[in-house]
Amino acid sequence: MDHLHLAANWADVRHRVAEACRAIGRDPAEVTILPVSKTFGIETVRAAVSLGMRRFGENKVQEIRDKAGALEASGIDWVMIGHLQTNKARDVARLASEVQSLDRLELAEALHHRLSVEGRAIDVLVQVKTSPEESKYGLSPAELPAFLDRLRDYDSLRVQGLMTMATHTEDQDEVRACFRLLRELREAEIDRGHVLPRLSMGMSGDFPLAIAEGSTEVRIGTAIFGRRSYGNSP
Ligand SMILES: *Cc1c(COP(=O)(O)O)cnc(C)c1O
Repeated sequence: MDHLHLAANWADVRHRVAEACRAIGRDPAEVTILPVSKTFGIETVRAAVSLGMRRFGENKVQEIRDKAGALEASGIDWVMIGHLQTNKARDVARLASEVQSLDRLELAEALHHRLSVEGRAIDVLVQVKTSPEESKYGLSPAELPAFLDRLRDYDSLRVQGLMTMATHTEDQDEVRACFRLLRELREAEIDRGHVLPRLSMGMSGDFPLAIAEGSTEVRIGTAIFGRRSYGNSP
């Protein structure tokens, strides 16, 4: 995608996010946009940086490694949003500023161990499975309370909130129900004493509904960078 097209998309997404906020009386400043650069190459990320983007979501550790290596001086924060294997914890601990896909204790343990070695701490969001689809990763809602309690043992993981992916369907009510469930889970955990300022929910196809249900961060790939072709390498 050329630079002008990328600039137009970025302006359009920001405008649409602001509109979705105003439509339900929220301040647009409450909703962060996380550009999702997965499958797009280094030149695209560089162009995005020149437009003011500084944090990028990726779903593969290898891509973070390649891009972070090539763009070292750009001051980028890399955010892991995809399913993370425990044996990749070392690279994540070195390179990522944040993990939004924390979904099991084994991973928390591995990240904490590696972060302690690096002398770092990172922000994390706990990924919750709010849809009945088998393919989606994340903790079940029933597992969330005990999981959050256990995360208190890992001081290198700064728990900031929850993340989810809604079910993939045309049915707006079903999509919205996923977002509502995440909001309600967060409220219940706040009542139990957890500090959870952030809700990462909403993607290119469903972010207005997520914003209506209280999202504080929308993860946007396609609407900014265009369609992904999975043959790409960074
Ligand atoms: C790819 C991805 C996104 C962005 O999806 P788009 O529909 O392209 O906006 C958001 N969240 C996660 C977890 C993803 O893997």
